Amino acid sequence: MHLQIVMAFALLLWWPDGPPGTPWLHRPLDVCLAVWGTPIIIALAAQMLCVITRTRLKHPTRASSALPFYHRGVLVLRVAALVALAGHLLVTPWPLMLADIPLIRAIPGLPQLCILVPYFMSLIAIWWMLYPVEKASRGFTPTAQRTSRWRYVVFNLRHQVLIVALPLAIIVITFAATREYRPALIRLTGSKWAPEALLGVVAMAIFVFSPILLRRVWATSPLPEGPLRDKLLAMCGRIGLRVREILVWHSDGVMVNAAVMGLFPRVRYIMLSDTLLASMTDDEIEAVFGHEAGHVRHHHIPYFLLFALISMLIASGVIEFLARTCRDANAVWHLSDDAIQALGLAAIVPIWGIGFGWVSRRFERQADVFGASCASPPKRSDNCRLPCCVHDGSGAANGDAVCATGAGIFVKALGKVALLNGIPPTERSWRHSSIASRMRFLTELSGDPMMARRFAGRVRGIKRALVLLSILGLGISAVYLWQNPGYRREILTSVIEPLRKLWK
Ligand SMILES: [Zn+2]
Ligand SMILES: [Zn+2]
Repeated sequence: MHLQIVMAFALLLWWPDGPPGTPWLHRPLDVCLAVWGTPIIIALAAQMLCVITRTRLKHPTRASSALPFYHRGVLVLRVAALVALAGHLLVTPWPLMLADIPLIRAIPGLPQLCILVPYFMSLIAIWWMLYPVEKASRGFTPTAQRTSRWRYVVFNLRHQVLIVALPLAIIVITFAATREYRPALIRLTGSKWAPEALLGVVAMAIFVFSPILLRRVWATSPLPEGPLRDKLLAMCGRIGLRVREILVWHSDGVMVNAAVMGLFPRVRYIMLSDTLLASMTDDEIEAVFGHEAGHVRHHHIPYFLLFALISMLIASGVIEFLARTCRDANAVWHLSDDAIQALGLAAIVPIWGIGFGWVSRRFERQADVFGASCASPPKRSDNCRLPCCVHDGSGAANGDAVCATGAGIFVKALGKVALLNGIPPTERSWRHSSIASRMRFLTELSGDPMMARRFAGRVRGIKRALVLLSILGLGISAVYLWQNPGYRREILTSVIEPLRKLWK
């Protein structure tokens, strides 16, 4: 879901000024019907999905297929809302109509943000209509009864949309402002690239400090003093994890989840949802907490940033190559600038669509292993009651081996996450793999120290490849830019000179 919101904003930044070609619709009435009709059509489709799923849930033979069917349906609805947004941007003059309204035009970025309103209304419509299924499909949770439809929609809006939309809205506003005040910025700094540099700095600052904002967007409060807090803090000390605060994530019983956010210890929070705390034993909570800690200790976010860097370098490489070969008068292929940009972007799609999911699923499993090790009894203790290669002292274990007791606790916690969130364990997940496959993998790993070693080696290989590809890509682009007289002049006049003036 978060990725879809990011894509919606990416569309906005890509086409901020309205359709690239002649719009399909012209009359303002047609445009309004098309744009405001979207949430209504999505709402009707969601209502249909709700009725079909509830009928299937009541039917004894079809109940097991009801939830997978329902989740696929929800995905289709969300993607349809996103495709409709692309349509509003690319084939209707809706963005231009908004930019013509004086009150909206007065604030930089507001016309762009208003383009998204029908999209957000579609999402709200989906949650509103599907609430009965959500309520029926979740296992019993002690707090679930309190949630009303209203609160459910507001909760999703805060957790699914605002968390991503708020930081991105600041970037859109900065983007619009740097475009509006471009001449002034260039005059002030003497650099043609000053607006882009400013946008980059703002984006980086938002990325680093967003946890401070987000802990307010999500209803959270510090985990109260008590034995659980002491245990978790002791664990932080043991595994060398520094966090600003452990937070309870108030979800009205809607969600069993945990998350970590923040790149640096001063702005890093680990969050455990209220329902997770209410429904799991202390051991299981430690295991889930350990999974989130594993993401931090294994540096998954910095490696994802390297992944993003590599994909950007590849896209610019494709664009540069096409521009060199297809713009000449005697080139074999003639491509417009827009087509070249689009092809460069298209090169990113398989990298993210396939590559990102693949890396992410391996990182999730590495975090699972870390979570299991956090739930394991200490190395030299007799608390491990299962046949276990870590604790039986046979010497078969290596540093990567997983304790059977720890794995068992983690697997049980995962099972609860599936049950209480209404996720079928076999349902596939692009970023996390299915819960059933994660449970199976961890159980196998705990019985096979060699498999654990192979897995650890594979993840190390992925990380090394990411570092090497980044260094290689940066090296090649640096040499390429410097060898090219046009680019070299550009770098000297737009970067080095203004920087030198700044230091004087
Ligand atoms: Zn995770
Ligand atoms: Zn053990």
